Amino acid sequence: MTYCGRFAPSPTGPLHQGSLVAALASYLDARQHQGRWLLRIEDLDPLRESISARDAILNSLEAHGLHWDGPVHYQSQRHQAYEQLLHQWQQQGRIYPCPCSRKELQAADGYHPRHCRQQPDWQSPAPRALRFALSDTEGQWQDRLLGALSYHLVAEQDDPVLKRKEGYYAYHLGVVCDDIDQGVNQIVRGQDLLESTPIHLALYQALAQPAPGYLHIPLLCNAQGQKLSKQTHAPALDDRQAGNNLWCALRSLHQSPPADLQPAPVTEILAWAQQHWRATALPGPVAAGGSLAVPS
Ligand SMILES: [Zn+2]
Repeated sequence: MTYCGRFAPSPTGPLHQGSLVAALASYLDARQHQGRWLLRIEDLDPLRESISARDAILNSLEAHGLHWDGPVHYQSQRHQAYEQLLHQWQQQGRIYPCPCSRKELQAADGYHPRHCRQQPDWQSPAPRALRFALSDTEGQWQDRLLGALSYHLVAEQDDPVLKRKEGYYAYHLGVVCDDIDQGVNQIVRGQDLLESTPIHLALYQALAQPAPGYLHIPLLCNAQGQKLSKQTHAPALDDRQAGNNLWCALRSLHQSPPADLQPAPVTEILAWAQQHWRATALPGPVAAGGSLAVPS
């Protein structure tokens, strides 16, 4: 089967060095496997997103030579598919409406004080989220970097939201629905999403679809040990320094790029990186939950 990977940023801000590391890892892994590499903009929450952030992301990827295959896929154009899937699951009794607040759920240890799951009230006009009814599951999956990982999903307590009270579709729904639709079969992403993987596996199973392969890479952290993100004020990538940014990203990914590639044009660095990419050079199981460093 042809490898098909993707990069799927949310347009809530420009890319920073941490997002470049994630994009580069998935790009190199796909290219080294002669695979396709798709770009999906996860624009599910208009209150947090902007057109300017979206454009900045596309420009940064191009400036760094990370050219994707096919058209850009926008989740904001997929509402009909999400609605169809929710309708199907409603017919099958796999989802239920839930007006509970986070506070109420916490107070009840993750159980629903209104018995939303046992007695779903589809008629109530109150704002409600739609949740997927999980089964109790003890499972295991094989991460390409971290090895065999076990998980335990608890019915009701872990039931994920698929559509939010505000009417927006939730991350778990969009990501699984679209990865299936786009034929994505290898996912390279940050370890901050490790906890989502069991939920995604449950959704694949509910849809009788084969789960993709996973490689969860450590996160790029600043000197204070915080994940680089908008919240920790990670600066936007300077696209004029694309070659240097790529070189530093390779260093962070433990790929040992030769010194004579600094500075070098983007195409030369990527050509070297594609040939020499070794996912196994990343800090492995011993350092699960560890982090990558920004080279000094
Ligand atoms: Zn509830």
